[in-house]
Amino acid sequence: MTPRRRLLLFGAWGLLSCRRQDHTEQSTPEPAATPEAAPQVVIAAVDANGTPTGIETVPRIDHTDEVWRARLSHRQFLVLRRKGTEAPFSGRYWNHHEQGVYRCAGCGTGLFASATKFDSGTGWPSFTRPVAEENIARQADGSLGVERTEVLCRRCGGHLGHVFDDGPPPDGLRYCINSEALAFEPAAHS
Ligand code: FE
Repeated sequence: MTPRRRLLLFGAWGLLSCRRQDHTEQSTPEPAATPEAAPQVVIAAVDANGTPTGIETVPRIDHTDEVWRARLSHRQFLVLRRKGTEAPFSGRYWNHHEQGVYRCAGCGTGLFASATKFDSGTGWPSFTRPVAEENIARQADGSLGVERTEVLCRRCGGHLGHVFDDGPPPDGLRYCINSEALAFEPAAHS
């Protein structure tokens, strides 16, 4: 190889090296790993009288079963996290008549006001409506071979019970809720 050819080859190699290097420098850097933002839910804040006091955006609650088992009683866990149903006339609220608000036993979200509670004769706490539509979720439930509408807590996804269209007027709805899914807070007396 002549010195001239050797020089040309060396120059070409140098150019390619530079281009490779340039290419490396121009490549897009990997985005820094950022923690995923916790999903939010919009719910109504509710006072002890069951009256909505405002709308708030709060983190959705996504505990593991292990955490739920530690925080709930066994019966609460079976209802809220395993969609169980307590036996009729067995819960602590089916025949409960104090004034106040029934909150989710899992996360404290206000769900039903005593003013909307009625005696359905079923043996489960029954309400004509939730304190705020934002605070509950509904989904189709085809278990047991019948089509029903399941009612869940919007914030923690806990199973509450079902809603039926055979309730009293004017709404005509019956929210049939498990006592185990609820935690009662007495109304504030001034
Ligand atoms: Fe909840």
